[in-house]
Amino acid sequence: MTVLPVTRGKLSENRSLSDLTWLRVGGPADYLFQPADIEDLQGFLRELPDDVVIFPMGVGSNLIVRDGGLRAVVIRLGRGFNGIEVEGTKVTAGAAALDAHVARKAADAGVDLTFLRTIPGSIGGAVRMNAGCYGSYTADVLKKATIVTRQGEVIELDPEDLNFRYRQSDLPDGAVLISATFEGPKGDPDALHARMTAQLQKRDETQPTKDRSAGSTFRNPAGFSSTGKADDVHDLKAWKVIDDAGMRGAKKGGAQMSPKHSNFLINTGEATAADLEGLGEEVRKKVYETSGITLEWEIMRVGDPLKE
Ligand SMILES: Cc1cc2nc3c(=O)[nH]c(=O)nc-3n(C[C@H](O)[C@H](O)[C@H](O)COP(=O)(O)OP(=O)(O)OC[C@H]3O[C@@H](n4cnc5c(N)ncnc54)[C@H](O)[C@@H]3O)c2cc1C
Repeated sequence: MTVLPVTRGKLSENRSLSDLTWLRVGGPADYLFQPADIEDLQGFLRELPDDVVIFPMGVGSNLIVRDGGLRAVVIRLGRGFNGIEVEGTKVTAGAAALDAHVARKAADAGVDLTFLRTIPGSIGGAVRMNAGCYGSYTADVLKKATIVTRQGEVIELDPEDLNFRYRQSDLPDGAVLISATFEGPKGDPDALHARMTAQLQKRDETQPTKDRSAGSTFRNPAGFSSTGKADDVHDLKAWKVIDDAGMRGAKKGGAQMSPKHSNFLINTGEATAADLEGLGEEVRKKVYETSGITLEWEIMRVGDPLKE
């Protein structure tokens, strides 16, 4: 049996992850670790035996945790990692800060990070996933990211070190992002808040924002670029090829492709992770059969299926 290091934070054994993900599914993690602060996280990782796998998670808005759970120490940052500071046009936020809070606080100070307002994740997840919408991406505004390595060392990374791509970036194996600094254009606070209100309204009109989902299920087929700029062609939308394959509204157990937006996979109440992933795989198959396009998952799927 592995003996885990002593911590000032919270360490829970065999902890279900379903209430920590937006889709409300998933089996237990071997351990869930919520560090008290940076030093606590550093000490824990320094002393943690090398063969123990760690999995940093944000607020689980882009995750399907499989029903058998995760053979890992899941690290979830909370208080102690959610500060937000604005200095001129630079905004530094802890990895546990919610994107929406960062956008609002930046807007109050006249800094435009409005694109983060409608993304329901945390800053750690935003950097890792190069989150973006309405033509702006995390990669466009990130100046610096700070991580704690698997060995417990604090290191600052430049944007180039992260190799940003469409909905993806690279972090050293086992690294936990602890904060990020962004620089946004200046804007009038009232105008920025008004824009965010309009964006929230647009989401509610076009997406199943009241349902349990993990956002877009598949990447748009043509989405290779990370920047949302001229070379970033998203002509071929995932929802369109899913519609063409007749899969809007398709169901499996408690999982459904949302009738409102066919690229949103939703938990209608009692879905298991297997229902959700299984339905996603059926959609991929049907889309391939009808259009020859292989859809790539945008939602990350982690952990083990339930044993038969
Ligand atoms: C309704 C809805 C709408 C959405 N709309 C959008 C959208 O418009 N644009 C968009 O880009 N995304 C969207 N998403 C997806 C999701 O919100 C983003 O991908 C978000 O950035 C994920 O953040 P998270 O904190 O939830 O990360 P999680 O889902 O918890 O984790 C995602 C990945 O990030 C890693 N990670 C998280 N925190 C850390 C950390 N501190 N250190 C290292 N790695 C970490 C995890 O290991 C995992 O690999 C949407 C989701 C929902 C539910």
